[in-house]
Amino acid sequence: MATCPHCKGHLNEGHRCPRRRIYVVAEIIACGIAGGLAGLLLLAAFDPRGQATDMDATAIIGGIVIAIGINRILRS
Ligand SMILES: [Zn+2]
Repeated sequence: MATCPHCKGHLNEGHRCPRRRIYVVAEIIACGIAGGLAGLLLLAAFDPRGQATDMDATAIIGGIVIAIGINRILRS
C-alpha cells in the first residue's frame, strides 16, 4: 500500500489528505463569527429601531449555531 507524501496516510483511490486540525478549528471559529454577524444583521434588518434589544444574544448565538451546523453538513 502506497503512502501519501503529504499526510502519510494510505494512498488509495480517491484519497484526500485530512486537513490539519488547526485549520478546521480556525474555519469553524471564522464560520461562527460570520454567523454571529449575520444573525445581528438579520436582527437589525427585521428590527431597525432596535426594539428587541434582548434578542441580540439570541440572534448572535442562533447565527453561530446555524453557520457552524451548515459548515459541518457541507464538510461531511
Ligand atoms: Zn494525503
